[in-house]
Amino acid sequence: MMEHVVGIDIGGTKLATVVADSTGHILGKVRKPTLAEKGPEYALDLLFDMVRETVSLAGLEQASISAIGVSCGGPLDTKTGIVYSPPNLPGWDALPLKAKLESEFQVPVTIENDANASALAEFRFGGGQGYNAVLYMTMSTGIGGGIVLDGQIYHGANDSAGEVGHQILLPDGPRCGCGKRGCLEALCSGPAIARRAQAAIRKQLADEKASTTMLTFTDGHIADVKSEHVLEAARTGDTLALRLVEETAYYMGWGIANLVNVLNPDIVLLGTIAIAAGDLLLNPIRETVSKFAMTRPAAAVEIAPAQLGDTLGDLAAIALVV
Ligand SMILES: [Zn+2]
Repeated sequence: MMEHVVGIDIGGTKLATVVADSTGHILGKVRKPTLAEKGPEYALDLLFDMVRETVSLAGLEQASISAIGVSCGGPLDTKTGIVYSPPNLPGWDALPLKAKLESEFQVPVTIENDANASALAEFRFGGGQGYNAVLYMTMSTGIGGGIVLDGQIYHGANDSAGEVGHQILLPDGPRCGCGKRGCLEALCSGPAIARRAQAAIRKQLADEKASTTMLTFTDGHIADVKSEHVLEAARTGDTLALRLVEETAYYMGWGIANLVNVLNPDIVLLGTIAIAAGDLLLNPIRETVSKFAMTRPAAAVEIAPAQLGDTLGDLAAIALVV
């Protein structure tokens, strides 16, 4: 009998459950809002129902499920399977997620933080296939990361490895969500790019009374300018937007160069904003990395957009158990 696995993707706004065969081919999927404000008991009951619903949607029996993989925001302990208060999941304080799922479904459960699980998915099914040392970096509301070495996620001493967004580049720079100042995440996440853009527009308007096409996307409202408007305006040749893209690439390239020197990766895969921006952002990042990293590791590394796009969350959970 063919074995099947269940993947569970737990986010602050949505829950997804998928069923896949042993090659990672997805056979069924259910997605529902997390309603995080209702707390973990509500979400767990909902997840139990969703798993059963997904298995039956795929035309399978519960008995054919051999394992469950869970991708969830950290911090969490992969050995004990306990989740420790992820910022987007209020009330999930020391929640024994693995134990609860194992007692409900009687199969082994693997839990992993979402950035690590995404890195493994890119290694198994996406842009990291065929490489030994893969560094994956998200570039969205935060800058997370995952390191896959010789086919294994590198966890570090207590599941804290891969916090690539919290390397400090500017000790007196903008405040980061982690409480420190000048982290890569405080400079290059989507909200950080938006903040830099808004400040630059205010300064430019005060200094020169000049304008920028970024404001045409927001009916003139500076506070509504987001990272996607910066990219859109840069594509039309807007000088200020191009300077913001340059600056973003400079900080990203600086951060990546540090990691390239330490990890000597075969490939660095960049998610979300880098996928949307493509070579507009990737080319100047590549230039900065080759300038700042040491010659030998710089010569070995490829810098590319992540490949899995919308399927990443599903495959992240599945990658843990196939
Ligand atoms: Zn930080």
